[in-house]
Amino acid sequence: MVNFLQDKEYDIIVVGAGPAGLTSALYAGRSGRSCIVLEKFSVGGQLTLIDVIENYPGFKRISGPELANRLEEQVREYNVPIRIEEVTKILDKGERKIVKTVEGEYVGKAVIIATGTKPKQLNVPGEKEFYGRGVSYCALCDGYFFKNKVVAVVGGGDSAVKEAVYLSNLAKKVYIIHRRNSFRAEKEIQKKAFATKNIEILWSTVVTSVNGSNFVESLSLKDLENNREYTLPVDGLFIYVGFSPSTEIFEGVKNEEGFIVVDGNMMTSIPGIFAAGDCMVQFKDRAWGQISVCVGDGAKAAISADEYVSKMFSE
Ligand code: NAP
Repeated sequence: MVNFLQDKEYDIIVVGAGPAGLTSALYAGRSGRSCIVLEKFSVGGQLTLIDVIENYPGFKRISGPELANRLEEQVREYNVPIRIEEVTKILDKGERKIVKTVEGEYVGKAVIIATGTKPKQLNVPGEKEFYGRGVSYCALCDGYFFKNKVVAVVGGGDSAVKEAVYLSNLAKKVYIIHRRNSFRAEKEIQKKAFATKNIEILWSTVVTSVNGSNFVESLSLKDLENNREYTLPVDGLFIYVGFSPSTEIFEGVKNEEGFIVVDGNMMTSIPGIFAAGDCMVQFKDRAWGQISVCVGDGAKAAISADEYVSKMFSE
């Protein structure tokens, strides 16, 4: 039988409240496990930064924040607490895992790490200096400040092209600056960008610096086709050059790129510590970056964690 020694002891502790973490919590709650979710920033994770989602099965269109709210509500139905409390370390003490946070510590029989990703930086001069003063990594959060202004988006993946379309409804003009001459974004997303009159694409072009006095005023660009360097006046720069895993605090279970490596049961090399969502890869698999995949991973991790707890604590 499960024996709760203190109010901070749980069967399953989920770290991260994005789609993977919330799905794990939903499954853990429904399987009758005591479970808590610890989240550093905001419930929903990257979902809260997405304007519209059109490829999540069951919804033709749904906003990221709306999907996050629905997931949170569904988790709370099973009395799983979701706390905004930053996790700083996870210690493996064999049968028990200690999850340290900025406020104290929790004890778990199993832990599911679902900490997601964070935006990659471009690493050009001016990027850091003008962060919050024209440089942004979130169109949904900051787009409104650029109403009727001129902005640039860097990148050629789903995020860059999709967010450029979102910004085109607010800004007067949107440049997409991409280092190659074709996008990797989904074709449906590309179609929308190509059909948008106030989007101009600067192919085979890189940003070499972000310039201004108080706020961003221009970008220095280089056309890689002919090595021409020139200045493009803009009011803002949105950087979407990919995401890297938010896994700094975890040791010993990551590959060289920082992704947590799990087996077919979503378990890391440490028994009882599982991972799900964009922060992890299975075997030598790739990262998928899809909400639907994160949700599936979250379910698998919770089912495996439930089985692990049953087996280890022979109920
Ligand atoms: P991504 O797919 O990794 O694309 C990053 C883009 O940035 C690429 O076009 C890349 O160029 C470019 N890039 C990378 N480093 C650069 C640098 N230093 N300078 C200039 N350009 C650079 O990232 P993402 O678009 O954020 O997507 C991440 C994941 O989430 C993907 O799996 C994606 O499918 C998924 N996602 C899906 C949706 C959706 O609605 N389906 C929406 C958003 C994200 P190259 O192409 O030349 O490599």
